[in-house]
Amino acid sequence: MDSLLTLTTETDDPDSPGVGSLLTARTADAYADLLHHVVDDIAGHVRAVRAPSVGPDRSALERLVEERTLDGSGIGAAAALEEAGALYAQHAVWFHHPSYLAHLNCPVVLPAVAAEAMLAAINTSVDTYDQSLVATLMEQRLVRWTGRRIGFAAGDGVFTSGGTQSNLQALFLARRRAERRATTDREDLLPRLRVLTTEAAHFSVSRSAELLGLAEDAVRIVAADGQGRMDPTALDVLLTRCEASGEPVMAVVATAGTTDRGLIDPLAEIAATTGTHGAWLHVDAAYGGGLLVSGTRRQLLAGIERADSVTVDFHKTYFQPVSSSALIVRDPADLAAAAHHADYLNPAAEAASADAEPNQVDKSLQTTRRFDALKLWTTLRALGPDELGRMVDRVCDLAAEVRGLLEDDPDLHVLGTTDLSTVVFRFQPAGLDDARVDELQPLIRRILFQSGRAMVARTTIDGVCYLKLTLLNPEATLTDIAAVLDLVRATGRGLLAGTRLAATGVDR
Ligand SMILES: *Cc1c(COP(=O)(O)O)cnc(C)c1O
Repeated sequence: MDSLLTLTTETDDPDSPGVGSLLTARTADAYADLLHHVVDDIAGHVRAVRAPSVGPDRSALERLVEERTLDGSGIGAAAALEEAGALYAQHAVWFHHPSYLAHLNCPVVLPAVAAEAMLAAINTSVDTYDQSLVATLMEQRLVRWTGRRIGFAAGDGVFTSGGTQSNLQALFLARRRAERRATTDREDLLPRLRVLTTEAAHFSVSRSAELLGLAEDAVRIVAADGQGRMDPTALDVLLTRCEASGEPVMAVVATAGTTDRGLIDPLAEIAATTGTHGAWLHVDAAYGGGLLVSGTRRQLLAGIERADSVTVDFHKTYFQPVSSSALIVRDPADLAAAAHHADYLNPAAEAASADAEPNQVDKSLQTTRRFDALKLWTTLRALGPDELGRMVDRVCDLAAEVRGLLEDDPDLHVLGTTDLSTVVFRFQPAGLDDARVDELQPLIRRILFQSGRAMVARTTIDGVCYLKLTLLNPEATLTDIAAVLDLVRATGRGLLAGTRLAATGVDR
């Protein structure tokens, strides 16, 4: 602790601001002490976790957040970190707890968490080669690795902050290609461009269309089959109709793993159709990208190798800490065509030369950018892709087991099927009308959430309210999930009993 005390006193020196508080050669020991302390603290929290959260009420949290001054003199690094642990870690949502079943959050693998500490300390920015050296080469190698897993002969790409950004960039590249092909100017073209996708596509698709200046009605919905997967025949019809009416299709977005139901659109048939029409095919595999390493389910992605661009979220099905995602394109020229050159960073004149420095900023919508690739690198080296694939397969198997468990359940009814690891269901005991059942689902979620004991999600599909489990924890067991389902049942029954009491005028 000696070095930590030094750290606080030295920052008070008015003649040398910052000295002692920055990570430098002089403070390397203090850095190690501070981080060891933080790591021990967090390990203690992780060890003690008994539920996804301690279920604090929001007004209590608001008070805790507001009561600290941010304008006073510093309290020193050790005290500030201890305080942050008490505030943040104590009241966090823990994704590794087997009763956390809500959203697409995964428990994280150890080598990646450790790598996160490494990249934070070194603070590389992978925008230009002269800021990153080997980091750029490592990221490029992982982009090639992902491209080869997809089946691209010579792909290219870049790491991004998430699927939302990967999708935006994919559609930006598609727009650039539409502009190159157009015979009219941008002003005339943009209002006519169309993006075809299904109702179940991630909302970032329509948001991106808006950001890219397309018309309000640019996104056209392709009909789906009974489950919700894109119907390739309907896609063909819609493509033909758009072409006939002078509405160039900028991109078709297929989803490999819809956010709600984990459904994979029939990629091979869709690719055949987009191929015939010469349309850009983007595959949003933010969720389903984990199947690229699966030993048993890789064939569900057959056809993905014919996409023009693919989104993969490593912070979902590769068990990576947030953020870690990539946009991978089949033809490197599509990425290169959107490069921007700044004289102070990556001058165009140098980019043309044979020994030009490899600047990832050429390929990114971001400038300063984290070296998130290091986490995937250490993960692949530590565990190997097959082990990651087994983890993905495990959560998919678990979803099938949960569905089996609910098959004849009198109270909990499962909706449709999944290709990945979600279970969409609702609490619907016999004799209740639909409107009442719709009301109950979000209430059940809210009560469980507020208790902190279990977390499930809620959603609406075709106007009907459901609960949803997103299984991304390969260590969770069927018994763990069954216990949460019991809580759902008990909560639902409790709500119904409360209603009956209220109806008879008895105060709860
Ligand atoms: C999660 C998800 C996204 C968004 O990814 P972020 O990393 O949250 O930005 C996009 N598409 C699909 C299908 C997703 O499941």
